[in-house]
Amino acid sequence: PSQKQTLGFQTEVKQLLQLMIHSLYSNKEIFLRELISNAADAADKLRFEALTQPALLENGGELRIQVSFDPVAHTLTIDDNGIGMSRDDAIAHLGTIAKSGTGDFLRQLSGDQKKDSQLIGQFGVGFYSAFIVADQVDVYSRRAGLPASEGVHWSSRGEGDFEVETIDKADRGTRIVLHLKDDQQDFADGWRLRGIIKKYSDHIGLPIQMVKEHHGEDAPAEVEWETVNRASALWTRPRTEISDAEYQEFYKHAAHDHQDPLAWSHNKVEGKLEYTSLLYVPGHAPFDLYHRDAPKGLKLYVQRVFVMDQAEQFLPLYLRFIKGVVDSNDLSLNVSREILQSGPVIDSMKSALTKRSLDMLEKLASDKPEVYAGFWKQFGQVLKEGPAEDYGNREKVAGLLRFASTHDASGEQSVSLADYIGRMVEGQDKIYYLTGESHTQVKDSPHLEVFRKKGIEVLLLTDRIDEWLMGYLTEFDGKSFVDVARGDLDLGALESAEDKQAQEEAAKDKQALVERLKTALGGEVADVRVSHRLTDSPAILAIGEQDLGLQMRQILEASGQ
Ligand code: ADP
Ligand code: MG
Repeated sequence: PSQKQTLGFQTEVKQLLQLMIHSLYSNKEIFLRELISNAADAADKLRFEALTQPALLENGGELRIQVSFDPVAHTLTIDDNGIGMSRDDAIAHLGTIAKSGTGDFLRQLSGDQKKDSQLIGQFGVGFYSAFIVADQVDVYSRRAGLPASEGVHWSSRGEGDFEVETIDKADRGTRIVLHLKDDQQDFADGWRLRGIIKKYSDHIGLPIQMVKEHHGEDAPAEVEWETVNRASALWTRPRTEISDAEYQEFYKHAAHDHQDPLAWSHNKVEGKLEYTSLLYVPGHAPFDLYHRDAPKGLKLYVQRVFVMDQAEQFLPLYLRFIKGVVDSNDLSLNVSREILQSGPVIDSMKSALTKRSLDMLEKLASDKPEVYAGFWKQFGQVLKEGPAEDYGNREKVAGLLRFASTHDASGEQSVSLADYIGRMVEGQDKIYYLTGESHTQVKDSPHLEVFRKKGIEVLLLTDRIDEWLMGYLTEFDGKSFVDVARGDLDLGALESAEDKQAQEEAAKDKQALVERLKTALGGEVADVRVSHRLTDSPAILAIGEQDLGLQMRQILEASGQ
C-alpha cells in the first residue's frame, strides 16, 4: 500500500509561505533559480557520494537538469537525476525549516510587505518559493540507492499541510511539477524560461536542458533536449570572461542568499599548491551570525567535484561571514572533516585565504568607503574578534576597524586608525581611547577634558567587545594605545615644562587635602591623587593601570564571577 499520509507544516513554514507568496510577487521568476539551485546541489551530493559508492549512479550516466512545460495542463516541470529524497527526507526537508535563528527572524516581521520582503530576502527563499507561482506543487523523488518501489510523492497546495505517499519511481532523483496559478500561465513559455535560466543559472556547472523547439518546421517524433546554459563551473573560467552579474548570480546560488554581495575576489593559485578560490563579502549579516552552530565556511571542491559545504577550516572564525568556493588540486577526493582539521596544505591555504579576505576588505574600504560603512554596520563586531584570534594579522585587521571618536559628534563608528593618526597633533605619539557603556555616557566624560583643551582626538569605544579587543591591540603603526581612564595619565611631549612644574606644585599644595580625602574614603578607593587631567570637573574616578576595565567587570559580574 502507498501509505498516504497528510502532515501539517511546521508553524514557521506556514508563516514563511504566507510571507513569500505575498511579498515576493514583484520578483516571481526567482523561484526557478531556487529550484535549479537545489537540483544542482543534489547533483553535487550524488557525485560526491558516488566516489565511495559507485553503485549509487545506477548506470545512469550524465548528470543534468531538465526543464519542461505543458501549456495545456498549465504545468512547469524541473527534473534532476541527483541524489533524490527518501520519504523521510521529503517530510523533513520539505515540511520544516532547520535553520537556527528562524524564530528570531519571524519575530522581526512587521506585516509591512515592503520591509518584510527585504527581510525574507535576507533569510533566503528556497524551495517554498515555488508557491509564488504555483497553487499546487507535486514532488516525485527517489533517493539514489533505494529500490524503485521506495519513491515518494509529496504534494501540497502551500496552505497548512502536505501529503506524502510511497510510489514507484524508476529513475533516481527528483521531479518537481508546478501547477501554475491562473495568472502565472505565461511561465509555460520556452522563450521566457530560456531567458530566466540564462539570467540566473548560466553559471550552474551542469547542463540545464530544455526541449528543442521547431518553429514552422516539422517536429521530429523523438524529443530532442538541448542545453541552454553555459554549464561550466563559474570559478573555472577566466576572470576576464565573467561579468559582474554572473559573479552575483553565482554568489546567490553558492551562499543561498537572495541579495547581492558587496565584493568578491577570484584567484587561481599555481605553484607548490594549486587551487582556485572565489570569495565573497555578503551584503548583510545572517540572522544566526552569533549562533554557535550556524553554518559557516566555504564550499569545498576537489578537482571540480563537490566535496562538502561549510568547510570551516579555511578561514578563521572572525571571517566566518565570508562565503564562497575553494577548489583544490592537492587534497584527496575522500578528504573528511577530520583530515581537514590541520596539516600543512590546509594551514597554508588558510593563511592565504585569510590574507585574500583581508585584502578584499581593504580594497572595498578604499574604493568604496560608503559601501564599507555598510559592511561595518553588519560585520564590524565580528571583525573585532580578529586581533585576539589572529595575532599575526592584528595590524591588518586593526587597519580595517572603525571607531566612534571625539572628532565626530554623531557617534558613528567611522574613524579608521589611519584617519586618527592623520589628525594627531604636534608631539602626539599615542592613540588615546576611552571605553564605556554607551556613547552618551562617554562623550561628556571628565576624562576627556584635558584632551578637548589640547585639541587631541580620543576614540570612544562602547561595544561590549571593545575592552577585550583592546587587550590584544597594543599598537598600530608603531603607536601604542592609551586608555585615558587609567592610572596616571602621562601626556609625554604633549605637556610643556611649565605644565609639569605647575602640576607638581599643585600636588604639593594639596597634600593635606589628599590625606584628608584618603582617611575619609578609607577602603573605598585604592589611592587619592592630584590630577591634572581635569579642567572643569573637581574630581574623577580612575581605574588602576593593572585593573580590569569597567566593561570587563560588568561582563564578569553578569556571568556570576
Ligand atoms: P536549502 O537549499 O537552502 O537547503 P531549500 O528550501 O532550497 O533550502 O531546500 C530544502 C531542502 O530540500 C534541501 O536542503 C534538500 O535537502 C531538499 N531538496 C530540495 N530540492 C531537492 C532536490 N531537487 N533534490 C534533493 N533534495 C532536495
Ligand atoms: Mg535551495
